[in-house]
Amino acid sequence: MFRSVVHAASRWAATELGLDTLPGQVTIKICPLDNYGDALWLDEGKYRVRLSPQQSVKDVLGTLFHELTHIHQYATDRLDLGFKQAVWEGETMQIPKTHSKRPWEIEAFASEKKLLKKYSKGSIFA
Ligand SMILES: [Zn+2]
Repeated sequence: MFRSVVHAASRWAATELGLDTLPGQVTIKICPLDNYGDALWLDEGKYRVRLSPQQSVKDVLGTLFHELTHIHQYATDRLDLGFKQAVWEGETMQIPKTHSKRPWEIEAFASEKKLLKKYSKGSIFA
């Protein structure tokens, strides 16, 4: 169930975000996690989104759009995350402790909301 929904939504979102025109490969894995999902930069041009199945379909899609936005940030070299430091738009900064104060999260949350609204228009997820 999740797999086909996630597959269709990720293709749609890749076009929306412009990910389909960027070089690189994104794999999506659905697996139990201690959070809703994450976006990993594995290697040059290789990215992975992990999604927890322990959430509603709508939340899975929201998480997917959120994490794909992070992939776009990585793939366009706007974001490079270290353990304590990040390079955001060319500037090295300490990663703010508060999640909602990280500029890449602010962007990903806004993107997630926007894409979810657009995707769910007229669908069963509305
Ligand atoms: Zn995030």
